[in-house]
Amino acid sequence: MARKTEDWRLTYFLGVALLLPIGTIVLTAYYFFRMGPLAREAVPFDAWAFSIIAISGGLSGIMAALLALFSHATWRARLRFENECRNLQRYLNEDVARERYRMQRNLDVFAAAQQISMALKQEVDFERILGLVLEQIEYFARAEQASVFVAGKGGLEPRALRRHGVTHFPPELASLEVEDSLVAQAIEHGQSRREFDEATGAYVFAASFSTPDGLRGVVRISRNIADDADFREEMPAFEQSVAHLARMLGLGLKQSTMWDRAIKDEKTGLYNANHYADQIKRMAATARRSGIALSLIMLDIDKFKHVNDTYGHLAGDLVLAQVAEILRREARESDTPFRYGGEELCIICQGCTSDDAALAAERLRSVIAHTEFHDDKGRLLPVSASFGVAEYNVAAMPSEKELKEACDKALYYAKAHGRNCVAVSEGEAQFYAIERSGDVESEVKRRLGLAGDNSPLNPAADSALQTPVANNEAATVRIQLGESIDALANGLAQVVGSDADRAKIVDSVVREAAAFLTQNLSARLTPQGAPCEADLPPKPKRKPRKTKIVTPAQAVTPPAAPAAEPAGEPVKQKRKRRTKAEIEAARRAKDEAAKKAESDRLDYLTDDEAAQLTEGKAPSKRLRDAAQSGRFA
Ligand code: GH3
Ligand code: MG
Ligand code: MG
Repeated sequence: MARKTEDWRLTYFLGVALLLPIGTIVLTAYYFFRMGPLAREAVPFDAWAFSIIAISGGLSGIMAALLALFSHATWRARLRFENECRNLQRYLNEDVARERYRMQRNLDVFAAAQQISMALKQEVDFERILGLVLEQIEYFARAEQASVFVAGKGGLEPRALRRHGVTHFPPELASLEVEDSLVAQAIEHGQSRREFDEATGAYVFAASFSTPDGLRGVVRISRNIADDADFREEMPAFEQSVAHLARMLGLGLKQSTMWDRAIKDEKTGLYNANHYADQIKRMAATARRSGIALSLIMLDIDKFKHVNDTYGHLAGDLVLAQVAEILRREARESDTPFRYGGEELCIICQGCTSDDAALAAERLRSVIAHTEFHDDKGRLLPVSASFGVAEYNVAAMPSEKELKEACDKALYYAKAHGRNCVAVSEGEAQFYAIERSGDVESEVKRRLGLAGDNSPLNPAADSALQTPVANNEAATVRIQLGESIDALANGLAQVVGSDADRAKIVDSVVREAAAFLTQNLSARLTPQGAPCEADLPPKPKRKPRKTKIVTPAQAVTPPAAPAAEPAGEPVKQKRKRRTKAEIEAARRAKDEAAKKAESDRLDYLTDDEAAQLTEGKAPSKRLRDAAQSGRFA
């Protein structure tokens, strides 16, 4: 273009340069040939002709000068025009690039939204949906880090973090990130929030989302935009898109919550029996079609009834939830844990032979036996579980029902062979038990509740048990008991070895000993502590009344009253004839039992009765009888 401008300028100058001499030559020649010495006939000096020629010469000079000026102006105009053209081109290019960027961004959002909505349709697990949404947001926002928080009962709960292409559930976020005020503000106000540091280029954006049932959450992304000057212009549109994707996450959360309710068990958070039935059927069909190995692990908590009866149903529920948590934590990606019965759990292991599944089951058994289980009062509970393992044999098992049956039988075998062990089905009614792995001594100690920080033998455990030890005597008792129980645990551990029969005996000893220790040891060590639930008297069946315990010193002797025999219940006649002596013995036993029950009952007085006794007023017949029998003497 510059070269062409040069050419133009040259043309103008050449034009001017040629025009001037040509005009001058033509005029001079005309003068000489017509009027000057070269004229054929002498022409007298003609002032008019001379003036015309001179004026014409001058005019042609002026014309040439004007032409030169004009050409210069044209050349300048052309330069300006070319510059304008260049600028226009640049602006156009920039606009096109910006539009392209915008279109690309819209396409990216559209693609991300499509991927997410497909995931919403196909996936039911919130974590999978979460993982996919974070993946899309990371790609779309070119975020260095993307995380999701939801508002839980205890404040902000980090649910997932995606960094360097990997999603973590739940993420181990530094407390700084969890206490991020930006996220807290976004959750509180239900609006998106931005933080941008001009100096460093650090950019953080928190987009809030919520579900119709009131659950709130935030998607937080962070990146450095120091080198991306264009991004600042695009920031509002970009944030709008991220907020849109975050809102879709809210939809996923609602959907998976609804789906969770249908397929998950509330108590343990594991998949329920219905989902188990669907999944095992589907996986067995896959195994039949493609030959992929399929194994089933079933586990049943040992003597769970004992846990319920000794420590209460709430304690049982806590144990169940803790065992479920272990399964969830320890299971591999391809293993899916379920709760298919009361305290019966199972794991479907896809792509797993029975040997692999047995190894996984043994690891779980060992983890459960080494875990400290405690109830809501901080008491340690003796917990172990038995496992049955079976592999799906396509040739011998027409359907998944036979697999479940084989696994069930293996579990029964494990129960019969000492509990707290893993048994594997080897086909037609053939089973073998896996040798226990791990340190038996520490396992026994753990199950006796003596190895952990909450052990009643550990002085630091008092605060956890809410039973402060008051005197040195308790400390001495603790040391003595500690030594003897330690020796017992060591002895038991040595006895176990790998002998299943011995393990069976030792297991029941451990269970009973643990229950005894939990109930009595802490009570003995803590004279001022609250009594254990099991030590309290049985609750009356009728509506409980306000009662007050009266010590003999507080009781006032009631006025004399006519003696009354304790009312004994009539002895029921059995169909079989009994001898007189037998009938008499049964009556005596019944009377004694009734007296004892009445005596126990008298330890508890109603408020009214206690007041009557204190004021010396005539008490009820029940108290008169008690006074008669010397109860308050
Ligand atoms: P075993 O070692 O032979 O398995 O003995 P067990 O006492 O565990 O016997 P079983 O498995 O038959 O006992 C099941 C008990 O589990 C009966 C029931 O009280 C208890 N159970 C079932 N579901 C629940 C539950 O959801 N919560 C609580 N706390 N207990 C449950
Ligand atoms: Mg059971
Ligand atoms: Mg059981």
